[in-house]
Amino acid sequence: MDNPADWTKFGFSTRAIHAGQEPDPGTGSVAVPIYQTSTFGQESPGKTRGFEYSRSGNPTRLVLENSIASLEGARYGLAFSSGMGAISTIGNTLRSGQKVLICDDVYGGTYRIFTKVFSRFGVVPDFVDASTLQNVERSLKDNSYAFVLIESPTNPLMKVIDIKRVSKLSHDSGAKTIVDNTFPSPYLCNPLELGADLVVHSTTKYLGGHSDLVGGAVATNDDKIFEELKFLQNACGAVPGPFDCWLVLRGIKTLSIRMDRHCKNGAAIAELLDQERKAGRIARVNYPGLKDGPFHDLAGKQMRQFGGMLSFEMPTKAQAKSFIERLKIFTIAESLGGVESLVEIPSIMTHASLPEHERTAKGITDSLIRLSVGIEDTEDLVDDISQALSYSRSNA
Ligand code: PLP
Repeated sequence: MDNPADWTKFGFSTRAIHAGQEPDPGTGSVAVPIYQTSTFGQESPGKTRGFEYSRSGNPTRLVLENSIASLEGARYGLAFSSGMGAISTIGNTLRSGQKVLICDDVYGGTYRIFTKVFSRFGVVPDFVDASTLQNVERSLKDNSYAFVLIESPTNPLMKVIDIKRVSKLSHDSGAKTIVDNTFPSPYLCNPLELGADLVVHSTTKYLGGHSDLVGGAVATNDDKIFEELKFLQNACGAVPGPFDCWLVLRGIKTLSIRMDRHCKNGAAIAELLDQERKAGRIARVNYPGLKDGPFHDLAGKQMRQFGGMLSFEMPTKAQAKSFIERLKIFTIAESLGGVESLVEIPSIMTHASLPEHERTAKGITDSLIRLSVGIEDTEDLVDDISQALSYSRSNA
C-alpha cells in the first residue's frame, strides 16, 4: 500500500507507523532512508526521477508530508523548517491591506510576526478573545478578513476555542480558518474534521516529541491553498533538512502512546494543583480537563483527551520563582511537548515579546507558571510538584 490514502480506514497508531512508509523498494529498508542530498542526478536535462533539488522536494520530506496529512485526515501536507516557517509561509500568501483575525492568547512568536513583520507589508492583524464567540462574530461582520487564526487550547492560558463554530463564522464572512494544532497534536484533535481550512504544527513539539529538532508543518484539503503554499515553500525556502524530517517521522510513530501518558500525567498534576486552589493556596489553574472549569465541556467535544499542557498562577511572583527553582524533575526551559517535563514563566520567557500592558491585560502575569508535563512516572512528577509547592509556601 504505497499510496498514503490506502491507509485511511486504519486507526491512528497504525497510520502513524505505516501511512506512506512502505519498506524502501530498492533495498527493503524498513526505516525510511534519510536522503541527505541537496540535488538529484538527471537522466538527461530536465528528465528527473521525481526530484531535482531538495528545496523543491526531497523523498524523506515527502514521506513526512504524507504522514502528517494522513494523521490530520488531509489530502495534503507540507513540512517546514520550523513552526514559524510554516506560519510565515502562510503569511506570505497575504497582500497589503488584508486583515487577519487572531486569537489574543497566542504564541508570542505568532504575535510578533504579525505585529512586527507582516504589518510592514500592510497586513493588518486584529487580536480578539476568540473563546467568546460574540467577539469573533462582531469582528467578522464587515466581511473583510482573509484568515482567522486560532490556537486551541491557547498558549499559555489554555482557553478552548470552538473550532466548528469559529470555522462556520469565518466561512460565512468569506475568510479561511487556520488552526494551530500544536498543543493537542493530531492525536487529540483534528481541526479539518471540524471545518478548519488549514492546520499548522510546530513539529518541534509533540510530533517530534524528544526536544531534539525544530520543525513545522501545514495540512489542508484545499487544492488552491496547497498549490500556493507549495509554491511558496520552494520560493521562500523555509524547508526542513532530511535528517530533521526523519526525526519527526520517528517521533510520530510513538505519538499515540506518548500522548496517552502526557494526558494521564497532566490530569494528575492539574488535580493536585486544583486541590491547592480550593485550599486557597493557588490563585487559578488552567487545564481544560478540570470538571468545573469553563472549557471542560467544549474540550470534551472537540478533543479526545485533555493534553499535557497546563498553567497556574501562584499567589506572588516570589512564590512562583521559589517554586520553579525548587523543582527537581522539571527543567526550566522554553518549548513543550517533549518526553521530559518542562516549566517556564511565560511573561519572561515564551511570551516576553508581547508588550507588558497587553500581557497584564490578558492575565499573563509574572506569577503565571506554564508546565509541559512529560512522560516520566506519574508519582514522581506529583511528588516533585508537591515538595516544591510546600517549599515555596514556607520560604518565599
Ligand atoms: N505555535 C505554537 C503553539 C508554539 O508554541 C510555537 C513555539 O513554541 C510555535 C507555533 C512556533 O514553532 P517553532 O518554535 O517550531 O518555530
